[in-house]
Amino acid sequence: MTQARLASCIPLPLEHKLLVSVIEKAKDWALMHGVGMRDRKNFTKDSIQIAPFVLLPSPFPRTEFTKAVELQPVLNELMHKVAHDDEFLTCTLENALQVDEFTANLFDIWVKVRDEGMAQPISLGMLRSDIMLESRCPHTENQCAKHTPYCSWKQVEINSIASGFGHLGPVSREIQSYILRQLGQPELIKNMPANLALSGLCSGITEAYDLFGVPRAVILFVVEEVSYNICDQRFHEFEISEKRPEIMIYRRTLTEIYDETTLNDKKQLILDGHPVAVVYYRSGYEPAQYPSAKEWDARLRVERSTAIKCPSIHYQLAGTKKVQQALAAPGVLEKFMGAGAATGRVRDIFTGLYSLDFDENGERAVDMALADAERFVLKPQREGGGNNLYGSDVREALLRMRHSRERAAYILMERILPPLVAGYVVRPGAAVPPPLTDLVSELGIFGVIIGTKDKIYCNRQAGHMLRTKLADANEGGVAAGLGALDSPYLLDL
Ligand code: ADP
Ligand code: MG
Repeated sequence: MTQARLASCIPLPLEHKLLVSVIEKAKDWALMHGVGMRDRKNFTKDSIQIAPFVLLPSPFPRTEFTKAVELQPVLNELMHKVAHDDEFLTCTLENALQVDEFTANLFDIWVKVRDEGMAQPISLGMLRSDIMLESRCPHTENQCAKHTPYCSWKQVEINSIASGFGHLGPVSREIQSYILRQLGQPELIKNMPANLALSGLCSGITEAYDLFGVPRAVILFVVEEVSYNICDQRFHEFEISEKRPEIMIYRRTLTEIYDETTLNDKKQLILDGHPVAVVYYRSGYEPAQYPSAKEWDARLRVERSTAIKCPSIHYQLAGTKKVQQALAAPGVLEKFMGAGAATGRVRDIFTGLYSLDFDENGERAVDMALADAERFVLKPQREGGGNNLYGSDVREALLRMRHSRERAAYILMERILPPLVAGYVVRPGAAVPPPLTDLVSELGIFGVIIGTKDKIYCNRQAGHMLRTKLADANEGGVAAGLGALDSPYLLDL
């Protein structure tokens, strides 16, 4: 089957000399405006290099973009309810916990803290729903009634921890606007939607800070040992520092939190003599695959404290792949959202999601995937990219795990097939000009929600980001070096 296509916003290829000169300008713009990352190969804190970016914005249908933006508060509220439904989380994760140590450790902390009584009822959710256009049409075999190169969009996953790109999302729009101006096409910029992700996410943090309401309190960003995605992280700090100069922000690893914090008799988390108001797991923070005992202890201390956590541990559990799959099962959305129109809108964004538990449904899913492995993605309970299996690996893994308990730690998901767009990807250290290649995009919509189990203080959509990768790459993490920064160019089809 030939994959559907969307046309680029200006006809390609660009003439060689023009292309080389605009890339040279764009690279300098990137370095001087924080479109950057630290170099993984020659790491130094003294410099950054350009982050990979797509030269021109990628087309995305306006109606589908608007639909995604409008749906975000509904998804925020759904995640909030799921995170606060103890019974649902327990039942849903039960089998995965037996075989997935990471999720089991999170779960143990949650149970411990709940049994002691939660010191902080307020949660700060900074979510990112990742979606892809689906070019296949479920209604008829090859023919969409709409006659467009896409049929709808589908959710890839919803992230509840470390939803990065609050800075890199908006700045991608700025660099591509600059490039369009250099190409003599400034009138196209109006088709790139405004993106207020950075201020939107940061005001979520400061609103939580204000709800904490303790003078001299500080904000704590939890960072990894070595930060490659430094621009995205630091710009959040710069933004808060500019808007709220009185608030101090600390950056600490979990190990440092273990060594440097205490809980006082009011269960305040104390760092450097200050109570911590908000603990924020940094954008792009990849939870270590195997945190040390100290790191788990630090996490437990944070969860026990009065600090408002982003995310709190039940939010992180709500963001697992297993929960996403359970939400797609018949009747589950209705339980959380009732039977109204919003439930139908959410159901429409799910693609086929199947449990691999040892029961009738699980067996059926295994058979279905073995019969046509190319149609599926196999996902473990992990975040941060590079863990999923595709194509022949799905088959191999299922044959290996078929009779082993390990299987319950995975979910099976139908593979989304987005339309192709031709484009140029500019990468650090790569030859200029790059070849014209076929690309596919993944749109992330940010949401902020603050509330307790019974009361929601704020719930809104907060900007977006677009990541684009080579059409034949399975995954497209930008920090992992596979994807590239991009932004949507809205099409009226
Ligand atoms: P992670 O937690 O590792 O980010 P994701 O579910 O987002 O896990 O998967 C990682 C990447 O794999 C996605 O960004 C996307 O590029 C690709 N991917 C995941 N699920 C699908 C799917 N159902 N169809 C097509 N691509 C997918
Ligand atoms: Mg992802």
